[in-house]
Amino acid sequence: MQKPPAPFPEPIFVTRPLFPEFSDFQLALNGIWERHWLTNKGKLHDELEAALAARLRTPHLSLVSNGTAALMLAARALELQGEVITTPLTSPATVNAFAWCGLKPVFADVDADTLTLDPAAVKNAITPDTSAIVGVHLYGMPCDVAALQAIAQRNDLRVIYDCAHAFGTEIGGKPIADFGDASIFSFHATKLFNTAEGGAIATADSEIKRKADLLRTLGIQDEVTVALPGINARMNELEAAFGLANLKKLDAEWEARAKLATIYRERLAEIDGLDCFELPASVRHSHHYFVIRIDNERCKITRDDMYERLKSYNIFTRRYFYPLCSEFSFYRSLPSSNPANLPNATKAAAEVLCLPFYGALGGEAAGRICDAIIYLVNRN
Ligand SMILES: *Cc1c(COP(=O)(O)O)cnc(C)c1O
Repeated sequence: MQKPPAPFPEPIFVTRPLFPEFSDFQLALNGIWERHWLTNKGKLHDELEAALAARLRTPHLSLVSNGTAALMLAARALELQGEVITTPLTSPATVNAFAWCGLKPVFADVDADTLTLDPAAVKNAITPDTSAIVGVHLYGMPCDVAALQAIAQRNDLRVIYDCAHAFGTEIGGKPIADFGDASIFSFHATKLFNTAEGGAIATADSEIKRKADLLRTLGIQDEVTVALPGINARMNELEAAFGLANLKKLDAEWEARAKLATIYRERLAEIDGLDCFELPASVRHSHHYFVIRIDNERCKITRDDMYERLKSYNIFTRRYFYPLCSEFSFYRSLPSSNPANLPNATKAAAEVLCLPFYGALGGEAAGRICDAIIYLVNRN
């Protein structure tokens, strides 16, 4: 029997927010103090908006206060009504944002392997009240964008993609925001690129951009005209300063995470019933999460036992996204929430585990996390 690995002296969490160089942030703060301008389309706000549009290679981008607001504004800008078809295997933000806009979520199952919306299930979920499909590029795995587009076209539906995990993702060299009517991003502290709190709507449609820009600032067009029933979803200058400085660290962070992913993948290969979640070779990885799936029948340890026992080594993994959104008390009674309607999502929610994944973790720590995982599998 192997010797048990030593626990980490400090807790290791699933992620650690990326911070800019303090001197870069400080420099940007000096400018804010000089201009004495805090919010409402400040200089840094507009600079970050332009920088992100260029980086994500999208024609139009509206910077907003968070990803949830981005989803809500996208729903309003697209004038959605009735039902939206979406996945239950996502952050509560995806579903709650649409419900908050008075829309009825209809859950469709995911594909067993890609864990993104299954086009056949989406097709089955369409009713005369359906207005949109909301796909999530879960863990940076792109949805089947061609199939969803075809379904949307045939049924006159709009398509929104939740790209919160897909910053910098590309499909065959095409940027992820190229698909659907609008794509939303989150720049929350836990995302690959963060502004502490923040988000964006990306679109190729100048009319959606125009509406999103109005909706994020109460619909105010000029001093005497409120053109749309907007909300306050503005990003302020302090967040924009943080984001601009953080952009400089992004490539190095991505590289560091790519190295960690290689370590995890190599060390965790060939464990019966434990698989690393892999993207197709044509996809550029966002490296937002590192996800494993533990088959509770085939592996010598269950996902939940692994999750619990890793805590004794001071390793705090996360079971994103367990429980499914369809299990929440306020969605559970929807007909589409029936687990029989969602077999692949239900199985996945019992199998997935997000491992600690951030550049500053370092290769040695990733190796020790693998030691603990392998030890726990073998001692069972
Ligand atoms: C983080 C996240 C969001 C919400 O973003 P916030 O900026 O926290 O509002 C939306 N969708 C998914 C899939 C997410 O992971």
